[in-house]
Amino acid sequence: MSTLRPEDFRSNASEALRDDVLRGALRKATDLFGSQRGAAVAQMPAWEALRERASAIKAEALATLDVQLERFEERARANGIEVRWARDAAEASEQVAAIAARLGRPTIVKGKSMTTEEIRLNEHLEREGHQPVETDLGEWIVQLAGETPSHIIAPAIHKTKGQIGELFAERLGIPRTEDERELTRAARNALRESFATAELGVTGANFAVAETGSILLIENEGNIRLATSMPRVLVSIVGIEKVIPRLADLQVFLRLLPRSGTGQRLTSYQSLLSGPRAGPDDDGPEEMIVILLDNGRSTLLGDDELRESLACIRCGACLNSCPVYREIGGHAYGSVYAGPIGSVITPGLQGLEKTSDLPFASSLCGACRDVCPVKIDLPRLLSRLRAEAVEGVGASPGLGAPPPRRLERAAFALWSWLAADSGRWRLAIGAARLAQRVGLDSLAPPARAWRTGRELRPLAARSFRDLWRTNGEDRQ
Ligand code: SF4
Repeated sequence: MSTLRPEDFRSNASEALRDDVLRGALRKATDLFGSQRGAAVAQMPAWEALRERASAIKAEALATLDVQLERFEERARANGIEVRWARDAAEASEQVAAIAARLGRPTIVKGKSMTTEEIRLNEHLEREGHQPVETDLGEWIVQLAGETPSHIIAPAIHKTKGQIGELFAERLGIPRTEDERELTRAARNALRESFATAELGVTGANFAVAETGSILLIENEGNIRLATSMPRVLVSIVGIEKVIPRLADLQVFLRLLPRSGTGQRLTSYQSLLSGPRAGPDDDGPEEMIVILLDNGRSTLLGDDELRESLACIRCGACLNSCPVYREIGGHAYGSVYAGPIGSVITPGLQGLEKTSDLPFASSLCGACRDVCPVKIDLPRLLSRLRAEAVEGVGASPGLGAPPPRRLERAAFALWSWLAADSGRWRLAIGAARLAQRVGLDSLAPPARAWRTGRELRPLAARSFRDLWRTNGEDRQ
């Protein structure tokens, strides 16, 4: 399993920028998602009103989260669901491992779940001698490759068909092919066996409904439907922020989420699970357990600004629209949550000490805010975290600020001083032109560090002031 870390963001990003195959795959996929989303949104005249409604529902849910969670627990228990709580990744993983051990180390089939990726559930289960099998095609591909997902809704977005063909040939022993139908057939054959023998299904959830004690899972492949209905026992790990107050709220999110994610009007499957099977003729698991996971979310909830990030419905639209994500992909972030939302919630969940580069992985262009179906003001949250990273570094040198950031602060202070006076500004421009001719890096070696990964546009040969003056003379 690859172990990318957020503290390696700069080197990860540099490496990604040199990988033309990766960038080609990313560009193709994010362009496609972006254009499909645009077309789907254009067909919804009430789109802005829906976004407002979704934002208000999420704000209400987060403001009353304690009440909503208790209500969910009470209703779910009344439906026959066992509800458990987990403070952190270790507690949640240990609970799943204990359930698997009680069932005699069965085949475990998993539905795609970023929450289980967040807590590194597969690693824990494998350490305990269990064999979880991802059943979403993209998740299964990255599991076979020993990697982690690089996109919230498209885990293998970074891989080309050729790379997948090679992987299948190596791991499944089939002839190498780039034919999608052949590759899908090979995956289906391999996964069918796992479904047939699985005793335990493990999933996340897109939403948990307080009013009815139900969870909703949406998908396109049907694997979640199988993972939640074929095994004898189902465990769903649900972040506490997934709770919404009412069943009727789902009609808002079901219109926003698929359109924002893949440009679909509706995903192929929606599974609303309200309890285990009730009788011999019923379907579904005999035992259903929901684990409500905190893992840093209540810390985010306690922050008046960052709380907004808990409204995320994991559609992936902000990743597809982000000019940084589109160039470097998800692995560079060193966290399961990539892109603009990942650059907010990873520091929010893990703290800034090792993630302080992530809020700077943005041009603050605002594209992420414009596409977000729940109207999260990501640029504002990123700016807040940037300020905190810089201030925290200043207050505590032990955090080990990268020198370029200190240089940036000094450079902006100097720029502010120069720009406040026209004489100083003219002198600075003259000096900059000279530096450009001689080479900025050789004049000021620290500038080399700042320039790493940045391209400076050359200064114009003549300033606007010169042009204005000349044009004025020409006019006379
Ligand atoms: S922040 Fe908004 S756009 Fe990004 S994944 Fe979450 S809901 Fe989607």
